[in-house]
Amino acid sequence: MDQKKIGSFIAARRKDNGLTQSQLAEKLGITDKAISKWETGKSMPDLSLFNPLCNLLQITLNELLLGEFISDENLKEKSNQVLFEVVTSWLGKDQWESKTDTQVPTVLKLKKVRKIYETESTSTEAVKDVSFEITKGNFVGIMGASGSGKTTLLNMIATIDKATSGQIEIDGQSVSELSENDLASFRREHLGFVFQEYNLIDTLTVYENIALALTIKQMPKESVKQKIIDWAERLDISEILSKFPYEISGGQRQRCACVRAIITSPSLILADEPTGALDSHSAKQLLETFVMLSQKYSATILMVTHDALSASYCDKILFMQDGEFKAMLEREQENKQEFFTRILDTIAKITGGVHYVS
Ligand code: ADP
Ligand code: MG
Repeated sequence: MDQKKIGSFIAARRKDNGLTQSQLAEKLGITDKAISKWETGKSMPDLSLFNPLCNLLQITLNELLLGEFISDENLKEKSNQVLFEVVTSWLGKDQWESKTDTQVPTVLKLKKVRKIYETESTSTEAVKDVSFEITKGNFVGIMGASGSGKTTLLNMIATIDKATSGQIEIDGQSVSELSENDLASFRREHLGFVFQEYNLIDTLTVYENIALALTIKQMPKESVKQKIIDWAERLDISEILSKFPYEISGGQRQRCACVRAIITSPSLILADEPTGALDSHSAKQLLETFVMLSQKYSATILMVTHDALSASYCDKILFMQDGEFKAMLEREQENKQEFFTRILDTIAKITGGVHYVS
């Protein structure tokens, strides 16, 4: 049951029927806020409202629960799908109200994180008092011009670099409390990386590169193989598993890096300018892969980018300038194009019209 999809469908049908949120609320005898919660996917209508709602929106119950129109020829197949989803969601929870934000686990939490680089002659405050949180299943972007502190911030979260002050928690564990030794295994257990340079080992095949991530986690050989085959299929790299990194394209290498990052089921995937070296088609494919991983597999992804088009795939974007967060945008009920336009507007506001360059 995809509440977001159902919500968008309710909103679209409400508009098609010429109703405002208030008008629909009035007809159903509930508050405007409830409608708005349905439409943003935060909650589901109460069971008792299903029938009157379907009548008002001129849709069937199956269509409501699926969040899309069902044509006559698909009726049987789709109805079974709805039934299956309803049953599984009933089994999974005893009420319709979706998880509120507080119930979704927080994967990453930063509190007043600072980083000062000291050299003999100068000291640079690359990151200043940055605080934010990411909950499970979110695809979050960090945008900012070159030199704004994005990589510094990501490296601290990646536990590759240490914060000068402040706190970083991943899965509730404060990373500054871990010893060097513990950090290596912590990274293996909790983090996945997709960086601009693919970090694939040239002397190993794609399969071996991916298997390496799993063997480090000490998984039995048979399950390693099945896992790789499954994920390679999902990310469309089945054909190239036996090739070496230099025999495949940049886009394919990045998708291999994605499989390698996701296959250990990390709590957080970190990506620094992952599309930086890709042509626009491969970049689009990679970003769509991230969206799929977050939506379908609840992967939590933090991606650094200076590119507004890449950022428009995210659910939420934090804008950095001179080491500080200057603004935050959350995707609303809008398509990528509309979100993209809002991103450009925000950049223009922050920078006074100067566009980002790499
Ligand atoms: P971005 O990734 O947004 O381009 P960085 O995080 O790489 O920005 O850099 C932020 C600031 O910190 C810049 O002024 C950069 O020159 C400085 N900086 C980054 N790394 C170091 C370092 N190892 N030593 C000293 N200064 C650094
Ligand atoms: Mg950088």
